[in-house]
This record gives sequence, C-alpha cells and structure tokens, in this order.
Amino acid sequence: MSLNKACLVLNAGSSSLKFSVFRQPKEAPGNQLQAVLNGQISGIGGATQFEAKDADNQQLAKFHWEAHEEMSREALLRYVLRWIDNHLVDDELVAAGHRVVHGGKAISRPQQVDAQLIDTLDGLTPLAPLHQPHTVSAIRLLADIYPELKQVACFDTAFHATQPWLSRAFALPRQISDEGVCKYGFHGLSYEYVTKQLLAKHPRLAQGKVVICHLGNGSSLCAVKDGQSIDTSMSFSALDGVPMGTRSGALDPGVLLYLMREKGMGLEEIEDLLYRRSGLLGVSGLSNDMKVLQESDDPNARQAVELFCFRIAKEVAAMATSMNGINALVFTAGIGENSPAIRAMICEKLSWLGVQLNDTLNQRRGQELISGLGSNIAVFVIPTNEELMIARHTLNLLSPVIGQA
Ligand code: ADP
Repeated sequence: MSLNKACLVLNAGSSSLKFSVFRQPKEAPGNQLQAVLNGQISGIGGATQFEAKDADNQQLAKFHWEAHEEMSREALLRYVLRWIDNHLVDDELVAAGHRVVHGGKAISRPQQVDAQLIDTLDGLTPLAPLHQPHTVSAIRLLADIYPELKQVACFDTAFHATQPWLSRAFALPRQISDEGVCKYGFHGLSYEYVTKQLLAKHPRLAQGKVVICHLGNGSSLCAVKDGQSIDTSMSFSALDGVPMGTRSGALDPGVLLYLMREKGMGLEEIEDLLYRRSGLLGVSGLSNDMKVLQESDDPNARQAVELFCFRIAKEVAAMATSMNGINALVFTAGIGENSPAIRAMICEKLSWLGVQLNDTLNQRRGQELISGLGSNIAVFVIPTNEELMIARHTLNLLSPVIGQA
C-alpha cells in the first residue's frame, strides 16, 4: 500500500520548537490537507518539556527532561524528528515548511530552501536575533539528516510587503532608514490565513477595510484593505505596538535612554526587560497568562487587563486611519478566540465608532459573527492556523516536484 504524502511544519522559536504534520490525502486532491499530529518542546534552556497530540487533540506524549539531562537544540530537534518518524503510520514526509520570522525587505513570498537562501536568512540575523538563528539551524540540520527532503521557508514578514512607504517609515535620517531600519511587521502568516478565511466566507467584507487583532502571547494588529496588508502595529521588531504577555509594546524611546544613563542598564538587561519581564507580566506582577489575570482579584492584574484592552482599542483606531475607514473587525489567536470578556472590553472602547457586540453571540463558542444588527462595523472571531498556512504554501510551491497539493 502506498503512503500518503505529508508535510512537516516546524516553528523554531526562542525557547520553543513547535511541530505539526499535515497529510495530503491520495483520494482528496486540492487544498484539503489533513492534520495528523502536532506538538512542541517548550522551556528550552530551562525546564524543558515535550508534548504531542493527534489530530483529535488527544495526548500522545507528555513529559519533561530532568535538569541534569539538559540537551542541545540539535539533540532536541533530532529527538522530535525521531519521534515523528516512529508515529507516522500511513504517511511519509515529502516536504518541510518552516516559519521564518524575518525575510527582510526583498522577500515577499515563500521560497524553496537552497544554499543561497540559507545564507540570506543567516544574514538577516541582526534583524531578528532571538529567532532567526534557531530557524536557520533547524533548516541546516534537516538538510543534513534528510538530504532528499524539500524545504520551504515561509515568512512572518512577507504578508506586509504590500505596505506603503508611509506605513513603513520611521522619522529617522534617511541613511539609517535606507539601511533597513523601518517597519517590517510580523504575524503575517496568521493575517494571511485569516484574510483567506474571511475572503472565502464573506468575500464582500474581505474586499473592504478590515482590522485583524491577533491576540496571543505575542499580539499585534493589521489593517487589511482589499486583502492586502496596509499597516500593522509591530514594526522593526516584535516589540512594537500593543502590550503582550511579557513584551512591553510601544514605548517612548526616551525610556531606554533613561534606563541606560540613570540605571546603568546594558543591552542584555534591557533586552530581557522588554522581551521577558514587561507586558501583562510586568504590569500585573503576577502572570503573563491572560486567563490567570482574568480569574484574579488582584488590582494590578485588573489594571494589566485594562491597559491591554485600552491600547488595543487605540491601535484599532490607528489601523482604521491608515485605511481611511473600517468595515470589519476580526479577533484571532489564543486571547482573541477564547476570551469574550476581552473582546467586549475592546469593543466597548470602540463604541464611538459604532461598534456594537451582540452579547449572546459573543459568548457562544465557535460563533463567527458576534456583532449586533445595529453595529456599524461587523465583528468576527476567526480562528487562525499559521501551521496550516505554512503546509499549504509548502506543498503548493513544491507541487511541480512532488505532485499536486
Ligand atoms: P502564542 O502567541 O504563544 O501562539 P496563543 O495564541 O496560544 O499564544 O495565546 C496564548 C494566550 O491565550 C495566553 O495568554 C492564554 O491565557 C490566552 N487564552 C487562552 N484561552 C483563554 C481563555 N479561555 N480566556 C482568556 N485567555 C485565554
């Protein structure tokens, strides 16, 4: 019996390695990819855990390594690949798609990996020092272990390549901007997936002016007009925009000068402060987890939640300004998909725009359209799926070589 062709999706983050496998079934051509399994190694560099689930979200494995067993990233990736190999019964991996955080200015679509692309990605490390090196290492290791496996790089920045100069520019001397210090934007694979979903189900709205709020551990917003990115809240780095789980979001640059001059803080200390000790965690002093904060009576937790919603509502207005209007507002990712209370708080602050939620619909799990009949702006909850987006890109790009996806 011949096996199904399958695509491995890897997302090598700063402290995690997420993986998924999607099947391209023999009997169902087209874009109907099926999830086979997914999982992650989290807490790399500290309390490292492994977890894997099948397509029905049933747990297949969960354990942690003891501190003395600390493993290199390479050893962890080798472990994942072996584990996947042992758990694929009806499928064989024919391709791997990677989530690559940075594609710089030049890359605006997925690319098949070759030696030249690896060098290009390596060269972009200064723009994403916490993520890019891990992705490049994963690509190299995969090429080493499976020389026959075709690899595709899918970029978080690519969807934003359509943004106009006005959205991209910083008011800095030209020479600095010309060297690449400008807005790139991230979460592009999520925005692309959500935009496609909206286009398939509500084509008229998707061809209008849409603000998408990707609210997870990392959070950002995107202004999408006629299906194309016009503006986004993250910019040069994934620190800009709204407050996140542990990241500060936009900050007066004068704060950094103050911390350096008056507090004697160095590069690594500031990096740690902005990426790992700020945001919901910093303000609440309690947790980076929105669920924990919403369940807490602590006034600092409540303020952290209020600040999060306030800054997002302000950013929705900024995104609408970039498009000179707004027809639809979409919530996605962990918080956006699962917290009716956060959606309600944000929409309440946008009532001046004529945004009105239907409370019953907002509470209903799986409900897509949650605005009331009288709302000027349609409000949706659309689950994102960056991994599926990567698998589709990968198999589509490789279809001349490995067969139609
Ligand atoms: P990542 O950016 O790591 O992919 P996710 O998109 O999974 O993150 O989002 C994680 C966030 O979603 C966490 O802050 C978590 O608390 C929040 N979240 C998940 N479910 C709920 C819920 N039911 N209510 C509130 N927040 C939730």
